[in-house]
Amino acid sequence: MIRFISVTLLSFFNLEMIHLLRDFSQTYKTSGIRSVCFSGIHLKLKSLLIFIILTCTVTRSMSQNLKHTIPNSIAKEVSKALSFYPELSDVAITFKFKKNIKKSTMQAQPVFGSFFKSRKNRSYLVRISERIKIADREFKTEDIPEDVMVGWIGHELGHIMDYQNMSNSQLMWFGVNYLLSDKHIVEAERAADTFAVSHGMADYIVATKNFILNHADIDNTYKLRIKKYYLSPEEIMEMVEEKTKEKEETEQEAS
Ligand SMILES: [Zn+2]
Repeated sequence: MIRFISVTLLSFFNLEMIHLLRDFSQTYKTSGIRSVCFSGIHLKLKSLLIFIILTCTVTRSMSQNLKHTIPNSIAKEVSKALSFYPELSDVAITFKFKKNIKKSTMQAQPVFGSFFKSRKNRSYLVRISERIKIADREFKTEDIPEDVMVGWIGHELGHIMDYQNMSNSQLMWFGVNYLLSDKHIVEAERAADTFAVSHGMADYIVATKNFILNHADIDNTYKLRIKKYYLSPEEIMEMVEEKTKEKEETEQEAS
């Protein structure tokens, strides 16, 4: 939304600039009306000044979001999930709706060209199915409760955190292994969940799991898949308890 307003504002003021420059040249060509137009020029100079100030402000606010491209309909949920990962604020991520994603609902992947770039300049694509299809039951993205959506995106961002820790060759091996080995899928999915939980997203991740596991309409095969590959709500709660215990212990030691 901010980006849309910024772009509209910028194009509006650019148009203003063109008119302004044209008016200036016309004023000087028709010397007879120079004095009449003086107050007009004065006004235009004022708008030029406003234009410069606004351009600076708008460009600053845009640069903060320049790395992330998010569809408007899920901007709130994605921004919420991103707020748990300050490390990803400078990482280029595009969130994109797709008609259909084979076997999954969301997918986070490095953009192909990234394999030839340094880790710092990698960019990622998070593909989101237009309709969230879980087994045979279809949900519109807007029908998914907000916390569930935040958790879902938080899990995908967990994958990106995992990728960010890998070198390019490790990343390529990761891709090959993901296709070939079931054990590797379990490791990767649990790693993504673990990143999300350690970033303070436990409640959201649990909300997403419970949404799938407690939904009577959802096919049992899909539920079994979730149980097989991902952290269970109980394991997540255990992780949170352990983390709290560790924190309390370090605080006790410090005092
Ligand atoms: Zn995943």
